[in-house]
Amino acid sequence: MTILRTIADVRAALTGPRDQRQTVGLVPTMGALHQGHRALVGRARAECDHVVVSLFVNPRQFDDAGDLAAYPRDEARDAALAVEAGADLLFAPAAQELYPPGFATTVCVRGPAEGLEGAHRGAAHFDGVATVVLKLLTIVGPDAAYFGQKDAQQLAVVRRLVEDLALPVRIEAVPTVREPDGLALSSRNVRLRPDDRPRALALARALEAAQAAVATGERDPGAVAAAGRQAMAAVQVEPEYLELVDPETFAPLAAIEGQALVAVAARVGGVRLIDNQILTSDGRPS
Ligand code: AMP
Repeated sequence: MTILRTIADVRAALTGPRDQRQTVGLVPTMGALHQGHRALVGRARAECDHVVVSLFVNPRQFDDAGDLAAYPRDEARDAALAVEAGADLLFAPAAQELYPPGFATTVCVRGPAEGLEGAHRGAAHFDGVATVVLKLLTIVGPDAAYFGQKDAQQLAVVRRLVEDLALPVRIEAVPTVREPDGLALSSRNVRLRPDDRPRALALARALEAAQAAVATGERDPGAVAAAGRQAMAAVQVEPEYLELVDPETFAPLAAIEGQALVAVAARVGGVRLIDNQILTSDGRPS
């Protein structure tokens, strides 16, 4: 696997595969790779001839300087994991490569970017995500790009971006990878203190409680959300939000009729965690 730092080198490295009509898959990441990222790379490996993993802690999508500073970084470990998962090329640019002096363009998606994470972290978060994702898609020009259902709102924002700008790329969603006890894998989990680790399960428990309420016939989003909140209260975790939304538009639901997604965010110790689940009427995973 090759590690490249510049846009020009990535473009040059991809001319060969492209001339041979090989398909290219892109997996954008911020590093601190874990089994969730591995699942994305594995899917790309299975579906594409050439797999590019990008590793870039995007400063423009952090609303909290402390969170950015504390974000775990270990490129050597990430490179080893990316190879093992089947990546052909790792694109690990410095911030100046993607944001050179004078950089003055921001991509702003509204609609699905407006509630939940957009409301709590500020509009700059998804502006930062949309800007860097568009730039990575433009640099790599993949046939398919792989995103985790773990960041369901990000996925909805990226899908909107791709559709609105008619970008020639397929967006593929990969199910959330969890610890055996249900905690969604996240690069931030390593920052959980041992004392807080059991309380981090509050998010998964809330989703399970919401799913159980729907499976027993509850169709009122308020009542379903209340079941989730109750599960969190049992372990003294206060959600930043816990809401039922349309999985495509992220508009709040007035009633559960078609597809519904329950999304939750909470701080556990000092660590902000998010999770979500598509709710199904029979309680089976969607
Ligand atoms: P990040 O490095 O956190 O920006 O994540 C990079 C990609 O990995 C995003 O598309 C995430 O949604 C995805 N991802 C993160 N955690 C998981 C997980 N537990 N399961 C599946 N995908 C994940």
